[in-house]
Amino acid sequence: MKEDETDAISKTAGTAPAEGQNSKTGRSGSRAAAVARDPIVIGDVSIEPGQRCYVDLPLPPLYTHTSVAMPVHVIHGKQPGPVLFVTAAIHGDEINGIEIIRRLLATRSLSRIAGTLIAVPVVNVYGFVSQSRYLPDRRDLNRSFPGSEQGSMAARLADTLMSEIVAKCTHGIDLHTAAEGRANLPQIRVDLDAHPDLLELAEAFAPPILLDSHTRDGTLRSAAGKLPLLLYEAGEALRFDELAIRAGLKGVLRVMRHLNMLPASKSDEKKSKPWLANNSVWMRAPQSGILRSRIPLGGIVEEGVVLGYISDPFGEAEQAVVSDVSGVLIGITKLPLVHEGEALYHVATTASTKSAARAVDEFRLEYEQPLIKRLK
Ligand SMILES: [Zn+2]
Repeated sequence: MKEDETDAISKTAGTAPAEGQNSKTGRSGSRAAAVARDPIVIGDVSIEPGQRCYVDLPLPPLYTHTSVAMPVHVIHGKQPGPVLFVTAAIHGDEINGIEIIRRLLATRSLSRIAGTLIAVPVVNVYGFVSQSRYLPDRRDLNRSFPGSEQGSMAARLADTLMSEIVAKCTHGIDLHTAAEGRANLPQIRVDLDAHPDLLELAEAFAPPILLDSHTRDGTLRSAAGKLPLLLYEAGEALRFDELAIRAGLKGVLRVMRHLNMLPASKSDEKKSKPWLANNSVWMRAPQSGILRSRIPLGGIVEEGVVLGYISDPFGEAEQAVVSDVSGVLIGITKLPLVHEGEALYHVATTASTKSAARAVDEFRLEYEQPLIKRLK
């Protein structure tokens, strides 16, 4: 299909900064200024309105002299509008978000964008290479924000993301998965006490579950302050989960349409309303052993129901893992080998499971049926 020539975005080869040269533009770029259609500067690269550009942001090299860079895709529209960042792999082994961004960047309607999209498919490049959640200094990047220029390796990486990307944006979406060995039902996490205005944006994304949860110190979410930021959690680490990827891509595009960054889509009118959970609880292993789960991810549980059994492979002891609460199973351990006290089942709690069941069913109908049709 031929692009509309008046609005089409031209692709520019990114003139990456010279190796070893780490010039930072600082946090001076105010959000209001970023909305104007001036060029946007990322690293040493100035991107004009109507241009699409790839920039390598230099990071500290490995001790083998191997240079390392953070990949940044910038689509700077001719028309004014919000400046949205989409980040993935802040935890280096959480790869669903990388695929969501790959598909997002291939979306045709981006050529008609109003505002700017800044997509960072791999923030924690070090962890991505070693297939690890952490950095080589064993720190968790998502406990190191806002970071500092002179701090630890994690603090420097956090500072680069904050000063080069977040400070220039008006909105953000951060893509995550569960930690290794666990899986999450697609969900958006927001802190509605701190950001009541985020409810509308989160509903626009339309995941089955919205989890209202307080932010932890050191996370990107807490460092972003007043900037509206959605945290998407879906699937598991080191695995592609097609449903989580498709729901994530659709969610990002819906948020962009909601912000009027993209034209409305007639085919996306039937979006379901997510279920809002105000609390969640982890059910832990009562003994060490081998776990057999009875309830799948997304399952509705009533208080007192048996979620699974743990048997002792060297003895005869077997214990049931019982849910203390009613709600929806939004996270589950996938590794059956468990130690006493380990977190096994994450339940978003509710007094009435009815509306939660409806939201999960509608989500399944939207994503699972088309998935089966497509594979035939
Ligand atoms: Zn994560």
